[in-house]
Amino acid sequence: MSKVRLATVWLDGCSGCHMSFLDTDERLIALAERVDVVWGPLVDAKEFPADVDVTLIEGSVSSEEDLRRLRLVRARTRLLVSLGDCAITGNVSALRNKFGTGAILKRAYIENNTMDAQIPRSIVPALLPHSRPVHEFVPVDVFVPGCPPSADLIFSVLSELLEGRVPNPAFNSPQRRRGAEKRQREQAFHKAGGHTHCRGLAGRGSRDKRVLSLRGFPQYRSASPPLSLLARSTQV
Ligand code: SF4
Repeated sequence: MSKVRLATVWLDGCSGCHMSFLDTDERLIALAERVDVVWGPLVDAKEFPADVDVTLIEGSVSSEEDLRRLRLVRARTRLLVSLGDCAITGNVSALRNKFGTGAILKRAYIENNTMDAQIPRSIVPALLPHSRPVHEFVPVDVFVPGCPPSADLIFSVLSELLEGRVPNPAFNSPQRRRGAEKRQREQAFHKAGGHTHCRGLAGRGSRDKRVLSLRGFPQYRSASPPLSLLARSTQV
């Protein structure tokens, strides 16, 4: 069986979405049997490769360099997945939009700098006027919301794509069932007076209900039918 070529890209985000992907833990081993990770923060490759089947893209588009990379990625990817709220809405990265780039650079490099304060004119990529979602620049095929999306959600979406299916907001994969069962156990535990010191990202459960895809946001539908290409590439 030819493996699916998977890339992950990090634009203007905090890397939390990538961390959540790694949170799939031992399921990464199952994924590795069907997927080759050809690009990403942990891959030692210098140039984004050609013929990538699926790219997960984290973060919004905030700089000229982000935009250049995004266009290259889109041109070389069959199926582009906006991973997380920054990629889908701008989210945290877009908080700077109302201040303008001049004020942001001044705050970062002048006001918060105690030595040799100056705004860099080279090396640091030029900011775009606003930080914007990925689909405002290129067609996106699947949207996976959350800040970050849960590991269960990411794994379920990838599993669906590997089967050549469009992720369904109402899908009921074994991983989702396990997640629901875990939440039920936690709720019963707390109802019985149990206490945990930190629930951390346990609130993801509610965000999972917002799983969306082409069906959820038809206005963002890509002009191409990349899923059929992906399905073909996974055949024996
Ligand atoms: S969506 Fe949340 S976790 Fe993902 S990059 Fe943005 S801020 Fe970080």
